[in-house]
Amino acid sequence: MVEKLELTDEEWRKRLTPEQYEVLRRHGTERPYTGCYLGTKDPGTYVCAGCKNPLFRSGEKFESGTGWPSFTQPVADDAVTIREDLSYGMRRLEVRCGRCDGHLGHVFPDGPPPTGLRYCMNSVALEHVPEGQTTELVTR
Ligand code: FE
Repeated sequence: MVEKLELTDEEWRKRLTPEQYEVLRRHGTERPYTGCYLGTKDPGTYVCAGCKNPLFRSGEKFESGTGWPSFTQPVADDAVTIREDLSYGMRRLEVRCGRCDGHLGHVFPDGPPPTGLRYCMNSVALEHVPEGQTTELVTR
């Protein structure tokens, strides 16, 4: 099980960059084709930019043509949580970090095999950890 990390809004504001805070804690969306991981193919793991929880692997990343880094599945079922998002007159499924509850993006049912899912992520909510390197979970 993922051990949860809960911080106050004030603590998040201090720890994150303004861009990270806007996406992770305010449910913002980076503009398409602007994210730093859009074309990244380097082997490794993508962790949560807020708490370093491992979220996605490079092997499940694919070129979706949407302008955001996209994955077919997370590293584990409990790496992320999914909730219904009815904002902007649409019904979408929001993807959050399973550990810190930070907003990561949305998941859509139009991805490639094997899952048919497209986890559409904001680069700013992620951090790429190269293969062979490790990163420490952020704690209180
Ligand atoms: Fe997190």
